[in-house]
Amino acid sequence: MRFLPVFLDLHVGPIILVGQGEAAQAKLRLLLSAGAHVRWYATDGRYDVTGLDANTSARVERAEGDPLTADLSNVIAVLCAGAGDIGQVMAARARAVGIPVNVMDEAAHSTFIFPAIVDRGDVVVAVGTGGTSPVVARRVRERIEAVLPARIGDLAGFIGRWRDTIKQRLPDISLRRKFWERVIDGAIGADVLAGRVDSAERALKNLPNHAAFAEADGQGFVTLVGAGPGDPDLLTVKGLRALQDADVVFYDDLVSPEVLDRARRDATRVSVGRRIGKPGIGQDAVNRLLIEAARAGQRVVRLKGGDPFVFGRGGEEIAALREANVAYAVIPGITAGLGAAAEWEVPLTFRKKALRITFLTAHKAEDAGNVDWSALTDTKMTVVVYMGITAAATIREGLLAAGRSPQTPVGVFARVTRPDAKSVVGVLNDLPDLAKQVETGPAILIIGDVVAHSAPWRNANPEKILSQLLMAAE
Ligand code: SAH
Repeated sequence: MRFLPVFLDLHVGPIILVGQGEAAQAKLRLLLSAGAHVRWYATDGRYDVTGLDANTSARVERAEGDPLTADLSNVIAVLCAGAGDIGQVMAARARAVGIPVNVMDEAAHSTFIFPAIVDRGDVVVAVGTGGTSPVVARRVRERIEAVLPARIGDLAGFIGRWRDTIKQRLPDISLRRKFWERVIDGAIGADVLAGRVDSAERALKNLPNHAAFAEADGQGFVTLVGAGPGDPDLLTVKGLRALQDADVVFYDDLVSPEVLDRARRDATRVSVGRRIGKPGIGQDAVNRLLIEAARAGQRVVRLKGGDPFVFGRGGEEIAALREANVAYAVIPGITAGLGAAAEWEVPLTFRKKALRITFLTAHKAEDAGNVDWSALTDTKMTVVVYMGITAAATIREGLLAAGRSPQTPVGVFARVTRPDAKSVVGVLNDLPDLAKQVETGPAILIIGDVVAHSAPWRNANPEKILSQLLMAAE
């Protein structure tokens, strides 16, 4: 490590900026955004900077004369960007009087360098590579941007506002640390990160006993996270963050191992899965596990295939959590039907041709027997069926009896967004055979004219798609 990262207070004196063009302007903006007063020597004499408001412009001093004879007393730092050869001479002057200096892209002449920055208000992350590779620094910054909550700065600010009050109420430092951890990991922290600062302020104000809050069990938190259909890159940024924070992850069989791999390395992983023909531990037992883990103070993630609220029993789980007084949040995921549509290019709606979408489940033949098929005969409705493979014959009968054409395009999309994904397309009349061809599930059925636009249909029936597209254009 050649450069020590420190945070410089720019409010205590002017900064000298020497240089011109885009490079100088970019540095000027950066310095101004950190509240600096900038004495600028524009080496081409052009001082115009677009997009600065009057207050900010007031902090730019347009310096006259030769920067090489500039008075350096009281100056916090010297910065050369787009300054040409003057940069090195300026650097020598600054070094001689012990003022930090940076010459852009010339680490050898600089006594400090600029990191790549993640700026979240009070929370700032600086990434440096010792001047070796700004591109690598930017990559690292992008990674950090992706996992840091957007409102993490608000959280720091919130805690900052309460810090002195809580310090008086909880003089013991270890108790105070526990207190803040509980706040950050619990419902109050979640409120701030969700942009509900008022509600967080109220909750903190209304805490009856701060010490008891810090010591109490049961401050855990459950997050229902939609894992998406399989591809781990389809996790939401928020879902990923929850996984990386979790102490324990309860997951379904539908969750792919690649998604599970994104959990924190030392998090406990517990399978609570259930698949057709194989009993799981039962919903009540799952609810109990979530509640117990939260009451033990853990950060719990309940990881569910697709979206928690699409045939995922997420509603039942949060009802149980509410009843048990356990704080929770729900993070959506990409449901399998949408994953299938994107992967195989099935536009679920199509202007004038497909105006409605129905998501339904037909788990077993009995369930399928309970579906009101007559509600699904509208040819402008796309029907997406979950858990429909074993009931494919009943689905076919139901739709045909209700009057849907046997030639309606259908697709069976198995293991969507996974490496072994498979699609089979055909017509409603052949649905049971098509369902058999995908071998193992899970699989989604999509029924409706839009399937004729899908990639597998285009590949299988080049002439049919043409007529479909012509119809759509009418
Ligand atoms: N909550 C899930 C659905 C759970 S129900 C979601 O939003 O996707 C289980 C059914 O989802 C399976 O029977 C299958 O129909 C569908 N499914 C889940 N993952 C799938 C995948 N990767 N490929 C195809 N279908 C999938």
